[in-house]
Amino acid sequence: METTKSHIALLASPGMGHLIPVLELAKHLVSHQSFKVTVFVVATDHASLTDTHILQSPADSGDLLDIVLLPFIDVSDIVMLCTPEIDRKEIDEHVKNRKPLHIPGCKPIKFEHNLDVFFMDPNDPVYQGYVEAINKMSLTDGILVNTWDELEPTTLKALRETKKVPIYPIGPLVRPIEKSVFGNEIIAWLDKQPKQSVIYVSFGSGGTLSAQQVKELAWGLELSQQRFVWVLRPPTENDAAGTFLALGNGSDATPDYLPDGFPARTEDRGLLVPMWAPQVEVLSHTSIGGFLTHCGWNSTMESIVNGVPMIAWPLYAEQKMNASMLTEDIGASIRVMAVESDAAVGREEIRSVVRKILVDRQGRNIRSRIKELKDSAANALAKGGSSYNSMSQVANICIQHLKTKASGA
Ligand code: UDP
Repeated sequence: METTKSHIALLASPGMGHLIPVLELAKHLVSHQSFKVTVFVVATDHASLTDTHILQSPADSGDLLDIVLLPFIDVSDIVMLCTPEIDRKEIDEHVKNRKPLHIPGCKPIKFEHNLDVFFMDPNDPVYQGYVEAINKMSLTDGILVNTWDELEPTTLKALRETKKVPIYPIGPLVRPIEKSVFGNEIIAWLDKQPKQSVIYVSFGSGGTLSAQQVKELAWGLELSQQRFVWVLRPPTENDAAGTFLALGNGSDATPDYLPDGFPARTEDRGLLVPMWAPQVEVLSHTSIGGFLTHCGWNSTMESIVNGVPMIAWPLYAEQKMNASMLTEDIGASIRVMAVESDAAVGREEIRSVVRKILVDRQGRNIRSRIKELKDSAANALAKGGSSYNSMSQVANICIQHLKTKASGA
């Protein structure tokens, strides 16, 4: 018997970091809320969809989940919900005099933790585009947010008070562990390591480091004498988001941009993974004891859901704000400090943070705090939890809306 399902269209904006949670939302709407869903994917570079199984509909979704790849677009010249509400003088003080930025109801953001300055310059097309997009958000019937009430109560309260539209925290939306179609050798290697002994190092789907920074990181990992899995990309200079537009298939397993002899000296306790790892599977492995991360939001959620303490090493976009929240507000990470702004992070600093998160006494609070956050995330998603209830509310509103439309009211 054919059933008539309400049909939802979702649009995933460019970048893996946007695509992954939208696909998770789609799967959730299909499996828990009985909708039919079509996800339209705006691709910036088909090569960046290296992990192509991400785009395959799960077998159990039948014909209820369609994924449509839209034509490639160039976003090379192209989030902040409160930008239009912030006083102009306040922004000027922030940009020119590096004073903390006061956002209504939120903790002030230090200059060094904020987005690049061009996001704050009213004469810059990037700023103008953001303000226009954010103003349009106020015209919507509601905003779904990939977080949960217990994680960010202050920010969510401020958002609810500032915005005229309902805010629905429905997270954490994290990919489930899948039987990986690749990377089995990484899991096999992790199987042989002691529990919580390995640091996982990755800078997201596109983050890269300078050549000097790659060398310092390698030295820091070696000096820490700890086990590691490092997703390694070729260095780029002056462009931390360097590989968003140029992910290759990564066949170079022993690159010359590492210190001489590094792979050989660390082969008994380190694994270099070229370009891309099955991150969710890695983070959920019992051998993982820490995550050196660029603090992309998906990586952050994946680490919390798996109870893995973090070392925050933000690179670009909103990552410095995430790092500040993780370190100063919720106590889930320690932060890597450059000796001075824009300088490479030194090997001694890296050695020290890796040891702190994995073995030293100083890391104990973070290691126990992350377990509380893991439980809090699970509770939010469980039946009757805050995010579960938000999602049910959204589903009910959609169904009610469709019924009203169908009755012609
Ligand atoms: N990811 C992965 N393997 C990698 C690098 C990244 O599976 O080697 C996934 C990661 O699990 C996360 C996403 O890519 O779901 C990256 O999103 P995030 O928001 O952390 O960072 P972005 O890539 O947007 O900077």
